[in-house]
Amino acid sequence: MAAIGSFSLLRNCAVTTRAFSNVRVSPRATSSFNSIKLIHPHHSQRSLFCTNAIHDEEASAKAAAASADSGAPTIFDKIIAKEIPSSIVYEDEKVLAFRDINPQAPVHVLVIPKARDGLTTLGKAEARHGEVLGQLLYAARIVAEKEGILDGFRVVINNGPGACQSVYHLHLHVLGGRQMKWPPG
Ligand code: 5GP
Repeated sequence: MAAIGSFSLLRNCAVTTRAFSNVRVSPRATSSFNSIKLIHPHHSQRSLFCTNAIHDEEASAKAAAASADSGAPTIFDKIIAKEIPSSIVYEDEKVLAFRDINPQAPVHVLVIPKARDGLTTLGKAEARHGEVLGQLLYAARIVAEKEGILDGFRVVINNGPGACQSVYHLHLHVLGGRQMKWPPG
C-alpha cells in the first residue's frame, strides 16, 4: 500500500487506475482527494508524465473532459457562454482568449475558437479549418502584444493524450513573461 507520504506526489501527477487502488488518504487530504476522484476516469487514460497541480475548478474541467476526444461538450463551452467566469484578455466574433486557471508562466492565456466545429484537437483539422486556424494564431499575437511579451513568447498546442491534452476543444496556450526553456518537457 502506498504510504500517505506519497500522496503529495500523486497530487501532482496524472495517475493510473492501478496507482489509485494503492492510495490511502488521510482526513486532511480528503478535499484534494475528492478532486482526484473527479478526474480519475480521464487520468486513467493519460500518461504518468502529464503533470498538473490539482485545483478544484480545473479538476471539474478535467472531469468534463473525462470522455477525452468523444466530441462531448467541455468546460470551454461554458466559458464561451459566460456560464462560468473567466479572465478574458481578448475576444472577437470568432475567438476568445482568457487566462489559464493553472498558469505555467507569468502570462498564460488560452486562445480558443468560439465554434469548435469538430476541432477537438489540432489533429482533426481539415482544409476548411484554415481560416479559423489563422485567426487563432493571429489572436495569439494580439494577446502577446496586449500582455507585453511580444519579444519572447511561446505558443503551444497539446494534441491528444500523448501530449497531455486535457480539454478537447482546440486551444492555443500563449506563454511568456519569463525566460522560456528549450527543449520543452
Ligand atoms: P490542455 O491540457 O488541454 O493542453 O490545456 C487545458 C488548459 O485548460 C489547462 O492548462 C488548464 O489549466 C486550463 N483550464 C481547465 N479548466 C479551466 C477553467 O475552468 N478555466 C480556465 N481559465 N482554464 C482552465
